[in-house]
Amino acid sequence: MKIFNTMTRTKEEFKPIEPGKISMYVCGPTVYNLIHIGNARPMIVFDTFRRYMTHKGYEVNYVSNFTDVDDKIINKANEEGVDPSEVSERYIAECKKDMEGMNVLPATVHPKATEEIDGMIDLITDLIDKGYAYPTEDGTVYFRTRKAETYGKLSHKNIDDLESGHRSEGHALKVSGTAGKEDDLDFVLWKPKKEGEPFWKAPWCDGRPGWHTECCVMAKKYLGATIDIHAGGEDLIFPHHENEIAQSEAANGVEFSHYWMHNGFLNINGEKMSKSLGNFFTVRDIAEKYELQVLRFFMLTAQYRSPLNFSADLMEAAKTSLERIRTAVKNLDFLMKQNSAETLTDAEKENRAKAEGYVARFDDAMDDDLNTADAISVIFELVKFINTTTDENSSKEYLKALRDEVVMLSDILGLIVEPKEEGLLDADIEALIEERQQARKDKNFARADEIRDELAAKGIILEDTRQGVKWKRAD
Ligand code: AMP
Ligand code: ZN
Repeated sequence: MKIFNTMTRTKEEFKPIEPGKISMYVCGPTVYNLIHIGNARPMIVFDTFRRYMTHKGYEVNYVSNFTDVDDKIINKANEEGVDPSEVSERYIAECKKDMEGMNVLPATVHPKATEEIDGMIDLITDLIDKGYAYPTEDGTVYFRTRKAETYGKLSHKNIDDLESGHRSEGHALKVSGTAGKEDDLDFVLWKPKKEGEPFWKAPWCDGRPGWHTECCVMAKKYLGATIDIHAGGEDLIFPHHENEIAQSEAANGVEFSHYWMHNGFLNINGEKMSKSLGNFFTVRDIAEKYELQVLRFFMLTAQYRSPLNFSADLMEAAKTSLERIRTAVKNLDFLMKQNSAETLTDAEKENRAKAEGYVARFDDAMDDDLNTADAISVIFELVKFINTTTDENSSKEYLKALRDEVVMLSDILGLIVEPKEEGLLDADIEALIEERQQARKDKNFARADEIRDELAAKGIILEDTRQGVKWKRAD
């Protein structure tokens, strides 16, 4: 498996720290609103990476945080006149619903920043002890950026250019509250509380942590001081990930992450989709018009590092494409039900071997830095192969082999292509119970048992009572 590592700007062979295991941290959303489809891109692509690596046999320990303390959350809470935790809890729940709709698996752990404050205070204390951080008079704690010798290594920025860049852009660096800041480049680790804001007690002042501190602490707590992969959208490379590296490596004295993966932007009319530009669609907006599987499919039509432009036409195309795979599966199901031949003919044996070639090519595409665009093309070639090599004379074994293959490849991408198990309606259940009663009267016990088993397989439990047959759905 080759992964493009932002740190080295090359595709590197992936080598885990521990054989067979992957520790992976993906920066999660700030929860003050419904997530937009730009936020959904890292969720979908890194979930796909996780699924693929799991399929290859790795045990993936996947941690993704919720940033649940932030100015935006506090502002929203003040607007609504509620506690910030009410806002963050509401949007965490909504985000989880969207994830489920997009078939994004829950992380192994979803830590919340507000539950990890003690660890952040410990980290900041350690950085102060080691001379990498300092508190100012008002209790703000800053990180001494220049003391981190390799600062800029991820974003490939030179620290001196950064400073002149800041100056020439006329950044308001000496804004109020920065008294005692030693250097323009120093960034905040802890900030004093303001009126009406949530705060935690700390040795420097009552206050709250800076955003960059969160992820270092949560990554170390759940995955260790050095992790295999750290991921997020490319806007996080600088300053967020650069500042995470500076703190982590200063405190722990070891490399923070071996690989850095960053997804490209989801754009609209050539511009990054973002809340601040107001050019966004929420996942919920899309769910009104499409099944969220279509959104997932659309996201995977591009390799994750490429920019991806969102448009109504592309969503329609995604819908049609996904339908094509589903139709192939339905056709196979239909043929499997009606065809009588059981075992493979010689020609089918040959074709089956050919079909396995698609799996190998799918893997090659995925092994090349998760090229889902090419992997999807391979699925379509397989669909074409299915459509041209199956008919009413195909054996069940051949049909099943092809079905298993197309479902497996789609599954790796998190795409659901099998027809949904239609749940039984109450009326259907009652009709079957009546038929069973009749069968018993007719002493056709075989049929009666068959009906009982059929219902049981669909989660319907029957109970014979004196008042007649009662039924319930299993939980
Ligand atoms: P935020 O809540 O803004 O911190 O974003 C959460 C995640 O979504 C981060 O990994 C961002 O990089 C990512 N993200 C935000 N907007 C976009 C976009 N338009 N395209 C791709 N990723 C994005
Ligand atoms: Zn982060």
